[in-house]
Amino acid sequence: MIPARHFAAGCVMPAFGLGTWRMGEDPARRGDEVAALRLGLDLGVTLIDTAEMYGDGRAEELVAEAVAGRRDELFLVSKVLPHHAGRTGTVQAAEASLRRLGTDRIDLYLLHWRGRLPLAETLAAFLDLRRQGKIRFYGVSNFDVSDMKELAALAGGDEVAVNQILYNPACRGPERRVIPWCRRRGMGVMAYSPLAEGRLSRPPGLAETAARHGVSGEQVVLAWLLGRDDVVVIPKATRPDHVRDDVAAVSLHLDDEDRRRLEAAFPVPDVDGPLATA
Ligand code: NAP
Repeated sequence: MIPARHFAAGCVMPAFGLGTWRMGEDPARRGDEVAALRLGLDLGVTLIDTAEMYGDGRAEELVAEAVAGRRDELFLVSKVLPHHAGRTGTVQAAEASLRRLGTDRIDLYLLHWRGRLPLAETLAAFLDLRRQGKIRFYGVSNFDVSDMKELAALAGGDEVAVNQILYNPACRGPERRVIPWCRRRGMGVMAYSPLAEGRLSRPPGLAETAARHGVSGEQVVLAWLLGRDDVVVIPKATRPDHVRDDVAAVSLHLDDEDRRRLEAAFPVPDVDGPLATA
């Protein structure tokens, strides 16, 4: 059973979902990608993260195919590109995403990263879309503390539900400032690239913990992230064994000693740096 997370503005969402970056890019892989998402849903996953950017809209179309007939069980997240994120452009982008997703509402709609258009316009459009029932909740992605502060001061900024950021054991910089800032305001953190895009480093502390539980390093990492009640994790997996392992990680419990060993292997950086995005 996948637990729920409760965030600002009354946003209740699953703690675990499936990512879709790089899906929809290669027609030869499309069948496997749809099958992977369907397998995830069969295993109890109810959250899918996508974006208008992924495959130039083809990831959203692929999601529509995978979730056909099951929309009402699901929590769908999509994102608007920064150069579309003006007052009118955001509404048009959301409507195009709705068409591609084959649905009448997006559960959580995010600004993909900060661009040049005024944040006040994006927020105004999010509020319009919410009033029209086209989105249920809204948030941002790749926002550092300075951006979050600016956002919070604007109309609608206090109802930002989440900040989706790069966060995994090898990238613990966000624990210094961004995550505590969001936590104090009841905002969630969605951890993207939780498996470091499949290039996870494997220090002995990770291997030892994985061996102790008879699971993979990837599963330990997902369980470690899921141990925080302010974090939502969205790994992307195409291989069926990866999908199964990732979903199984939701039930993996790490004890204090496991967490200490892992955190010693992947320490938080000593100094503040800019928010990492890759
Ligand atoms: P990721 O989830 O960290 O890693 C995906 C890679 O890990 C794939 O190569 C996958 O292989 C592999 N993998 C998955 N489960 C595994 C397992 N149990 N054992 C071994 N390998 C495993 O990378 P990501 O796709 O960058 O991030 C996840 C999602 O976050 C994205 O898909 C997207 O939805 C979102 N995201 C958001 C942003 C943003 O700017 N907001 C940026 C990046 C990502 P297979 O596919 O071959 O199974």
